[in-house]
Amino acid sequence: MKNIVKKYGDGFPAVNDVSINVADGEFVILVGPSGCGKSTLLRMIVGLEDITDGEMIIGGKVVNDLAPRERNLAMVFQNYALYPHLSVYENIAFPLRLANVDDKTVDQKVREASKTLELDEHLERKPGNLSGGQRQRVAMGRAIVRDADAFLFDEPLSNLDAKLRGQMRSEIARLQKKLGITTVYVTHDQTEAMTLGDRVAVLKRGLLQQLATPRQLYTNP
Ligand code: ADP
Ligand code: ADP
Repeated sequence: MKNIVKKYGDGFPAVNDVSINVADGEFVILVGPSGCGKSTLLRMIVGLEDITDGEMIIGGKVVNDLAPRERNLAMVFQNYALYPHLSVYENIAFPLRLANVDDKTVDQKVREASKTLELDEHLERKPGNLSGGQRQRVAMGRAIVRDADAFLFDEPLSNLDAKLRGQMRSEIARLQKKLGITTVYVTHDQTEAMTLGDRVAVLKRGLLQQLATPRQLYTNP
């Protein structure tokens, strides 16, 4: 993200000259109070929102004018957006089916992803009778099979109760380490920010206030 600006109207910019360089394999958290511009920034990375000024660069290429499907990123939404009537297998396979990938390749990719995510025992089940952690993994599986360049999470835990949220937090941290996939993760929860990320970007009223490791933020808040 290079000097990214987003203006919705004449007022104060929702995102104001934000530059963040996310390294390959890095886990970066965008944190800040409601309205600080986190979701807007995330949506501009994915391509769901036009950029007013600045450059969004992925893998060395300016993607400002690329549609979401041309960016090869995988967004994991708040409620995971799983299809209740489809099996775990077909939920993971879904993006490949959309892309008309042949059955053999689909099967290979789904089995590989489900093994990595320890879901291979559950392929025939429906999302409705999975645990929260398993559902999370199905959502990540769907992102993995696409060989996406990065994962983007938009407050994935905010609808959960405190206990489950804690479990899922560990789960996400463990999986991200295991997969080593570049990740940008939006949250308003400070605990999540301080425990999950390699680096934390603190936003306030559209401005990037701090960009540092959790350790640096603890010692120099
Ligand atoms: P956050 O995700 O941190 O809660 P947002 O990115 O949703 O913040 O919003 C940042 C600012 O931009 C807020 O002031 C919000 O009201 C404004 N905003 C967000 N989306 C729109 C929109 N579609 N039209 C106009 N203003 C918007
Ligand atoms: P068959 O019933 O002869 O196995 P299918 O077309 O149902 O043929 O499956 C072909 C391959 O795809 C199988 O190896 C199977 O493991 C896999 N497959 C397809 N759909 C599913 C599913 N819903 N759950 C698990 N595996 C599936």
